[in-house]
Parts: sequence; structure tokens; C-alpha cells
Amino acid sequence: MMMRCPNCSSKDIGKIGSQQFYCWNCFVELSVSGDELTVHQVEADGSLSSLNDLFSEDERKVQW
Ligand SMILES: [Zn+2]
Repeated sequence: MMMRCPNCSSKDIGKIGSQQFYCWNCFVELSVSGDELTVHQVEADGSLSSLNDLFSEDERKVQW
């Protein structure tokens, strides 16, 4: 599997759930739904905030 982080383009992606991944380079959480990525930032208090607004649809396409 070759998955790239839409935020930093790193391939240093770890799997943390069946459809969930984590970028060890920029510390964002990536959820896959269909062929689309949802990007979340994990806040200091453990909550998630969506970063989807920062990316175009193309950038959030899953590139396996
Ligand atoms: Zn990243």
C-alpha cells in the first residue's frame, strides 16, 4: 500500500484502524471513506478538528 499524506506528502503513514490512518510526519489523522480522505488534526485535548477545507477534492482522493 502506498498512501500519501495530503497535508505533507509524506508516505510515513501508519494504520490505526480499518479505515483510519495516521501521518507520523505531520501528525494528522486520515480516514478513508470510499476513495476520499478525510483529514483531521488531533488537538491537545484529544478532540479532532477537520482540515478538509484546506484541501481540494483532488488532493483528498485516495492514491493507493
Ligand atoms: Zn502528513
